Amino acid sequence: MLLARFSYTIIVEIVYDLGLQSGGVTSTTLDIAVIGAGPAGLLTALRMHQQGLRPTVYEVVPELKPLGVGVDIKTVGTAEIDDLGLLEEFRAISVDAEDSIFYNHFGQEIYAEKCGVHMGYLHEQRFVHRGTLQMLFYKVALERIGADAFRLGVGVTGYDQDETGVTLHLQHADGRTEHVRHDAAIAADGIKSAIRAQMFPEMAKPHFSGITMWRGTTLMEPFRGGHTILHIGDPNISSMIVYPIADDFEGTGKTLVNWVAETNGEETIEDWNQVGDISEVIPLFDTVKIPFLDVQQMMRDAREVYLFPLIRHDPLDNWVDGRVVLLGDAAHAMYPRGGNGITQAMLDARVVVQQLVEHPDDPHAAFVAYDAARREGVNRILMNMRGEGYEVIRRMVAERTNGQPFDDIEAVLPLAEADAIFSIYHALVGSPRPGHEAGEATGYRTEHALTSAKE
Ligand SMILES: Cc1cc2nc3c(=O)[nH]c(=O)nc-3n(C[C@H](O)[C@H](O)[C@H](O)COP(=O)(O)OP(=O)(O)OC[C@H]3O[C@@H](n4cnc5c(N)ncnc54)[C@H](O)[C@@H]3O)c2cc1C
Repeated sequence: MLLARFSYTIIVEIVYDLGLQSGGVTSTTLDIAVIGAGPAGLLTALRMHQQGLRPTVYEVVPELKPLGVGVDIKTVGTAEIDDLGLLEEFRAISVDAEDSIFYNHFGQEIYAEKCGVHMGYLHEQRFVHRGTLQMLFYKVALERIGADAFRLGVGVTGYDQDETGVTLHLQHADGRTEHVRHDAAIAADGIKSAIRAQMFPEMAKPHFSGITMWRGTTLMEPFRGGHTILHIGDPNISSMIVYPIADDFEGTGKTLVNWVAETNGEETIEDWNQVGDISEVIPLFDTVKIPFLDVQQMMRDAREVYLFPLIRHDPLDNWVDGRVVLLGDAAHAMYPRGGNGITQAMLDARVVVQQLVEHPDDPHAAFVAYDAARREGVNRILMNMRGEGYEVIRRMVAERTNGQPFDDIEAVLPLAEADAIFSIYHALVGSPRPGHEAGEATGYRTEHALTSAKE
């Protein structure tokens, strides 16, 4: 059976152009609810504040905690963070991505390329802990908007609406219920969105892909200087992605390293916090010998391991119901590969708020315009994330070598052939990379490429 279809960064940046210019303060007095204080809801609240709108944010958990593991913020995501005036604070909690290296199931190098500004993009690609980033957004939102805009421990269970506004049905942590009125509502309530379930009950049934992820972090000495993402394995057996997400983590002097192992698995519930047992997966990486990293020891030394089934959420053909709109994972839950979900949510936030500014008296028109600007492109990414993208090179090498080690990578997958595959990706990228407008990839062999050949 075919396994994990990594696509990672594929076409994440192509819809950057769909984001509109920020700036300016609106005269609208719309009273808008944001449902969910995940990265998407918080970014939406910050964008609203930036444009002179005041949100009310409802969040079901009574206290926000830095949950999750690593996310890979693409150059367009860093641009969004920069535009909110948070670049330096973001840099302080994240790691600059410099190199991206691909290996077969024996730890032999297949391909390498530079990342972010190191390959000519105008913004950095950075790795960060999802929870740390969410807490940064929350801290800044409290400072800029004020604590009274946030109602924690209050879940939104559904809505009604008429020509003049939306009634949200609230469930408090203590069991109380309440009904509140707003001019409009933006639902950023994540993969299990109650609002999406009300809008599209027929889409609520999950479809397990057959692939399970084990997501973990390990506190360790940095490898390769601490700025490299590794893509390892034969996708017919198992795959792994490894990257650092924090230097000198909590003053320990060590690096927090994020890793994700994928293979076929049993269906489990779709829950970000489901604790996993990595011991059954470690033997799948018996053959992997990376010169500077013992991947099995890294997994054994995990601080935390979460099990996450890859569930297919089909793309929606509409995100809007009158004065209510979906955003972030609620609109386009996708496989959690390569930070595409979070990066797309950042773009959603900017565009929906810009449309509210442009339609100050008509939230429905604003939401329809946001849907038109964003949905199609994001749905393409969602579908692409189910495929392999440029990670296909690992499968090509496995097939060309019958799953055996090789003597000379140039004879198996020439650099020029791999470059052509990566160029397709870079050509799709919407953010500027001066001098490479046609998307030319610039792969290279690292110092380990020759020594990792078959011995
Ligand atoms: C606990 C957790 C851990 C995660 N870990 C990772 C990770 O390690 N790697 C990764 O790639 N992605 C992770 N994600 C998903 C990632 O955050 C999203 O893909 C991306 O950031 C888009 O964020 P979002 O705000 O749309 O969704 P989410 O981050 O899921 O945020 C949704 C928010 O809405 C709240 N909410 C849900 N239902 C309601 C309701 N009915 N009423 C009010 N509030 C509600 C949730 O508590 C949550 O705070 C995680 C999500 C969560 C919730």
